[in-house]
Amino acid sequence: MARIGFVGLGNMGGPMARNLMKGGHALKVFDLSEEAMNFAVQSGAEAASSAKAAAGGVDFAITMLPEGAHVREVVMNDGVIAGADPGTVLIDSSTIDVETAQAAHAAAAAAGFEMLDAPVSGGVVGADAGSLTFMCGGSTATFAKVRPILEAMGHNIVHCGGPGLGQATKICNNMLAGINALASAEAMVMGTRLGVSKEVLYNVISTSSGRSFYFDSSNPMPGTVAASPASNGFKPGFMSKLMLKDLRLSQAAAQASGTATPLGATATAAFQHLVEGGHGDDDTSSIIKLIDPKAG
Ligand code: NAD
Repeated sequence: MARIGFVGLGNMGGPMARNLMKGGHALKVFDLSEEAMNFAVQSGAEAASSAKAAAGGVDFAITMLPEGAHVREVVMNDGVIAGADPGTVLIDSSTIDVETAQAAHAAAAAAGFEMLDAPVSGGVVGADAGSLTFMCGGSTATFAKVRPILEAMGHNIVHCGGPGLGQATKICNNMLAGINALASAEAMVMGTRLGVSKEVLYNVISTSSGRSFYFDSSNPMPGTVAASPASNGFKPGFMSKLMLKDLRLSQAAAQASGTATPLGATATAAFQHLVEGGHGDDDTSSIIKLIDPKAG
């Protein structure tokens, strides 16, 4: 069993750290939140006084932080890299921009460390259940070393390619998810206004070429799919403000790669409007309110 440093014990990191301990690993943890620290320590982790301290004397150092700026601060700025012993493997599971992920890889390599970017999908439910999908970027050898550790937290562990390509894969997926959420809302509102019942629209489209995960599982028209957040007061689920963060990352990636993504840009503008309208904490399916403000 491994010794693991874990920094960032929030909604995702907290349950991920607990699953590592359930898997028999010894954890040394750090978070700025005292409450998050107490919870992890009560579950059996050793408290560290800083990110730098959490990365010392461990085999793997994992970060699960909100954004790229936090990763720059915690990993590169007198943090994890400065505190880690030779041979420690660095894993960043935060969802961040490809550029920062690649800068973190470069800083780790310059200091002699192996690193993997390993963002996740599956949400808080998947983090709790240990059923996350990990999208990994780094060398094949590093991926092989890290895989058994990730298996304590997830079921689907995919090597997407070299440094940063885990983040690139995650951003492509979430850009498409945002587009599909908006497109599903447009089709459902237009169809019902034309006089087709929402049940007929759902039954036909969910078995036809217009279907998507969002249309099938998180259908934005309230009362269409019982388990969709839209049928449960738009309670998340996946919050609109997090979708906006990921869509903005997708637009940065589009610019960096010279790719025209008009639909991604439209979805980004739509979610920005939704969040500015006070729906940032509502589920992504609340995007239907832009098409029909009376929905729900
Ligand atoms: P969160 O805000 O709940 O947790 C982040 C934690 O990092 C907090 O506990 C915070 O105190 C800590 N932190 C921030 N700066 C720190 C620092 N300098 N040193 C130590 N700790 C610090 O966020 P989350 O929902 O756990 O998400 C983490 C990442 O996972 C994000 O990038 C998010 O986009 C991604 N993600 C989230 C979900 C989801 O459903 N919540 C799903 C997939 C991916």
